[in-house]
Amino acid sequence: MGSEVKLSVLFTRDEIAATVNKLAAEIRQDYLSKNPVLIAVLKGSFMFLADLIRLLDFPLEVEFIRLSSYGGGRESSGKIKVVQGLQSEVRGRHVLVIEDIIDTGLTADFLLDYLRQKKPASLKLCVLTDKPARRKTPVNIDYRGLTVPDKFIVGYGLDWDERFRHLPDIYVVEDKG
Ligand code: 5GP
Repeated sequence: MGSEVKLSVLFTRDEIAATVNKLAAEIRQDYLSKNPVLIAVLKGSFMFLADLIRLLDFPLEVEFIRLSSYGGGRESSGKIKVVQGLQSEVRGRHVLVIEDIIDTGLTADFLLDYLRQKKPASLKLCVLTDKPARRKTPVNIDYRGLTVPDKFIVGYGLDWDERFRHLPDIYVVEDKG
């Protein structure tokens, strides 16, 4: 911990931008006349959401949800709860979940179940980064950005213990030594 953390670039801001563009084009095709509700999972997805929605030139709404996650460590506890819920009704709406990363899949699995109970007209998942090597439960990803290796990544909204979120590129955290 502390200042000895070494980061190496995994995806540059240009690669990220190209990926967000690609995802936006796919989403546009499917949601153009559906007035969807995009639900971004805090905190990690805020930067992705902000870049993505600026490319979506059709009516949509934005909601945020906050779930308990890693805490200060690097391992998912598998215990997930809603810390900050939705501010509006999603019943009958076309809901698109915006996630920063799918790792074990436990968070997405929980969230999709939670949202399904609210009876949306449709429910899909868009993820910027996917770490399939660590999956513990299958997750159906409708819009997938970048595949990442079995490493801990930071930047572009993703943190390590609240650090590194603001970095415009995505990095792998390399252990010292
Ligand atoms: P899952 O439930 O799929 O294991 O994990 C989902 C959450 O764990 C993500 O939303 C994110 O908060 C955190 N997470 C998983 N892998 C990484 C990673 O490589 N880097 C960061 N910063 N967070 C991660």
